[in-house]
Amino acid sequence: MREILHFINGEPTAGDNAERGAVFNPTTGEQQAEVVIGTTGDVDAAVAAAKAALPGWSGTTPLRRARILFKYKALLDEHRDEMARLIASEHGKVFSDAQGEVTRGIEVVEFACGMPHLQKGEHSMNVGTGVDSYSMYQPVGVCAGITPFNFPAMVPMWMYPIALATGNTFVLKPADKDPSAANLMARLLKEAGLPDGVFNVVHGRAEAVNHLITHADVSAVSFVGSTPIAKHIYETASAAEKRVQALGGAKNHLVVMPDADIDGAADALMGAAYGSAGERCMAISVAVPVGQETAEKLRAALVERLENLQVGPSLVDGKDNDMGPLVSAEHRDKVANYVGIGAEEAELVVDGREKDFSAHPDGYFIGGSLIDHTKPGMRVYDEEIFGPVLCISRTESLDEAIDLINANQFANGTSIFTESGHAGRTFAERIEVGMVGVNVPIPVPMAFHSFGGWKRSLFGPLHVHGADGVRFYTRLKTVTARWPEDQVSQDNAFVMPTH
Ligand code: NAD
Repeated sequence: MREILHFINGEPTAGDNAERGAVFNPTTGEQQAEVVIGTTGDVDAAVAAAKAALPGWSGTTPLRRARILFKYKALLDEHRDEMARLIASEHGKVFSDAQGEVTRGIEVVEFACGMPHLQKGEHSMNVGTGVDSYSMYQPVGVCAGITPFNFPAMVPMWMYPIALATGNTFVLKPADKDPSAANLMARLLKEAGLPDGVFNVVHGRAEAVNHLITHADVSAVSFVGSTPIAKHIYETASAAEKRVQALGGAKNHLVVMPDADIDGAADALMGAAYGSAGERCMAISVAVPVGQETAEKLRAALVERLENLQVGPSLVDGKDNDMGPLVSAEHRDKVANYVGIGAEEAELVVDGREKDFSAHPDGYFIGGSLIDHTKPGMRVYDEEIFGPVLCISRTESLDEAIDLINANQFANGTSIFTESGHAGRTFAERIEVGMVGVNVPIPVPMAFHSFGGWKRSLFGPLHVHGADGVRFYTRLKTVTARWPEDQVSQDNAFVMPTH
């Protein structure tokens, strides 16, 4: 059985635990590897390595650090398909989607390559007579990243390229369901010339996480995962005096206005709701048609398209399927259970449980489902299902659609499809959600902007990557300096200096 080890101080290591977790192939249901489950001792070893590497790395010039990232970016390009295959085989998303994930991660590395410019401080001459003031953005220290199963390459890459480029060292605790991408990233960073100990990977679960986020030598914690765990991480790590950004779950709505191109909106919804089997934090899980006529047309267009949704293995010869299996048998069963709840609470229009997967009897498959007439108070509407299930919540006006979305506990992403500039602008201004699309179904910001939701989709003030990412991984220091030619009188030292 292939073993997936930790990566500490530049070397793969089994650490000090005999416990192993199973890594499955979701298409076949077969176990394909086992991953070491980290202990507090393994976390201690990784943090110690990161701490030891910190003076050297933070003292390396930003330009030299960026040059290593340039090499790393080239290596990622070379190994993009290898990484995408690993992701597809462990996560279950289709190969082309996995390639897209790696590319979006590489874009953050490209952004981080510009860090010598991005990390510059400000300078003011003569803030007082003969007094200058300047600021610097210094690394915060050892940073920790805890990441979810659904983007095993891209989500870690939201974090560590910026942390490393700004002079920090890093310990990553990836999800244990699809851990191989993390090790490939560690190997390529080493190959690019990153000194040992600057980037470490500890596999594991809650025990490793809870030790890492409260460790005395860790300064900052970035987390991405479900809302209950994000809240736990935010509260626990903040109480332990770390700076924290904890991104949580989502329930993303897409409003379809009566003037929208219904076929275009339905096409967009298919990819946004069912792509990656709905296991995306930016997946659209609620379609919000405005007006009954819009709702009927949209529903018919979605039903027609669902009949042709290609669901099958994540790795195939030839053209990819639209959607692969879910990540695990438990998760597939959880999603199937929600579909059953939807049938009781609302109107189940298309039942993904009925799709025939006899060609892959042990894979974790389920077809796409559509549930109409959902509303707040129903479990299928209120809870994050994180699977290929699209709800339709009908409204009568843009105001009602905005109120519906603003009342939701989650506020990660949302979108509106309309031909009206006024409706689009009103929506963008009034909606209380972190990322907004206008005729764009999944409005994921580019690496040089910042990604993050509001409300219970993000705990903490700073989003990931872009300018917020640079702020998160740096501490501001402001120096006020006077270099007098002669001795200066300090006569008024007891009063506030004014001009
Ligand atoms: P999860 O919360 O179960 O796990 C995330 C990480 O937390 C993993 O590394 C896991 O090992 C660790 N963890 C799990 N339970 C823990 C505990 N009790 N104590 C400490 N650590 C624990 O999430 P998941 O199932 O891997 O990922 C899916 C979730 O992530 C969805 O809710 C999705 O919306 C969310 N997500 C959000 C974003 C975003 O940007 N907001 C992006 C991707 C995924």
